[in-house]
Amino acid sequence: MSKDDKNNNMNMDDNDDKKQKSDEICYLCKRPESIAGKMVKIPNNIHICADCMQKAFDIMNSGDNPYMNMIGIPPAVFGINPLQNPTDMKAKSQDATAHSAAEIKEEFDYKKIPSPHIIKAKLDEYVIGQDYAKKVISVAVYNHYKRISSSAPADIEIEKSNMLMIGPTGCGKTYLVKTLAKLLDVPLAITDATSLTEAGYIGDDVESVISKLLMAAGNDVEKAERGIVFIDEIDKIAKKRNTNSRDVSGESVQQGLLKLLEGSNVEVPVGASSKNAMVPMKNINTENILFICGGAFPDLDKIIKARLNKNSSIGFQADLKDKYDNDVNLLQKVTLDDLREYGMIPEFLGRLPIIFALEGLTKEMMVKVLIEPRNAILKQYQGLLAMDEVDLSFEPEALEAIAEKALEKKTGARALRAILEEIMLDIMYEIPKDDNIGRVIITKNFIEGNGGPIIELRGSTRQKNIASGNH
Ligand code: ADP
Repeated sequence: MSKDDKNNNMNMDDNDDKKQKSDEICYLCKRPESIAGKMVKIPNNIHICADCMQKAFDIMNSGDNPYMNMIGIPPAVFGINPLQNPTDMKAKSQDATAHSAAEIKEEFDYKKIPSPHIIKAKLDEYVIGQDYAKKVISVAVYNHYKRISSSAPADIEIEKSNMLMIGPTGCGKTYLVKTLAKLLDVPLAITDATSLTEAGYIGDDVESVISKLLMAAGNDVEKAERGIVFIDEIDKIAKKRNTNSRDVSGESVQQGLLKLLEGSNVEVPVGASSKNAMVPMKNINTENILFICGGAFPDLDKIIKARLNKNSSIGFQADLKDKYDNDVNLLQKVTLDDLREYGMIPEFLGRLPIIFALEGLTKEMMVKVLIEPRNAILKQYQGLLAMDEVDLSFEPEALEAIAEKALEKKTGARALRAILEEIMLDIMYEIPKDDNIGRVIITKNFIEGNGGPIIELRGSTRQKNIASGNH
């Protein structure tokens, strides 16, 4: 190679080098350095112009993109796809905002919320009994979403429909709320009031409830602001009686919940239940969040009975003292005064304008819970065995025996699944062993531990024995 050739080559390399340098383009907006200005170089040979860098910081400060990985820079980092040209992106983002605004407006149209009788009919498919509660909740929810709809009259302030549900454990309080949220397709957060304490003490502060809702809404603030919060075991935050120490998990929690129930702006951490410097925060307005509180309120019946007895023992129409002893619907007669005496503070009760009680489940209701709901436990087992082409049935007396066993446990319908799982264990274990089995009939004797179920073999009336379990 001649000296000239060499020089030429070197010049070409130089030119290439220069060209490469001058061709540095912004990884995000794709503008070259000559237009976008000086680039910042980050690992992986990625260059970013000052404008995009600023945009990224703005997004970070607004807290919209809390988990972005600045160092690894994924292709669609900062919410911008580098393969798109900037004008396209702008048009698309405007499109998206217009679209989501239209969607939000649509969702706020209360005419899209099913009428109370339709909500109730849907609840009927899942929840057994509790007719009154289902009616109250359907109307309250309908009104709530009407209230937050864009067509609500501006000159009339419609009060929030926050609710307080009273009912023994396992009667369907949580189930009712869960079913409702599913039907309405709104986010739902379920919290236990026992885990809440006054801010600054060990435990979750009251705002963690809203954090959970935000999580349930997939960090979508708009969605969370129309969601439902269910606070269970609310009776556990009744004012403690005869205590000299600070009541950090009772009255203080009620006080703390006041502003949430009423409607206020709260700053909550995104993706965590406690605030700390590392977690981004979002501002949530609780004005349109529906709060439903539930509790068993043990011994509330005694307070109600005492009040009723006191009232009825005065005057000419004085009743017998034991008139209310066997009244199963005593809780339905609850008044604000009873709840105040129980330890709920008046301001708290004032923010829960809809108060109603659910019935404890009777034997007949328990049997229905087993077989009637769309996702009834028996239907689930029947479905599982049907996959092995085995027909599962229960004698009516067997169902009653299961309900009686569940009633003894005093945990409402919650006991049913546990009992059934124990009973079905042997069957679910043995059946797949033998392809000849075509039918299983669960008998009362089997439930009571006095024998096995009836097993029928395919294409014959022959029966087989499966040893009864030790349930
Ligand atoms: P709680 O009243 O203590 O909140 P849950 O709603 O959690 O009780 O009930 C526990 C389970 O029992 C539910 O998941 C549901 O399967 C069943 N259950 C309770 N009550 C009913 C009911 N009225 N109808 C149908 N299933 C019910």
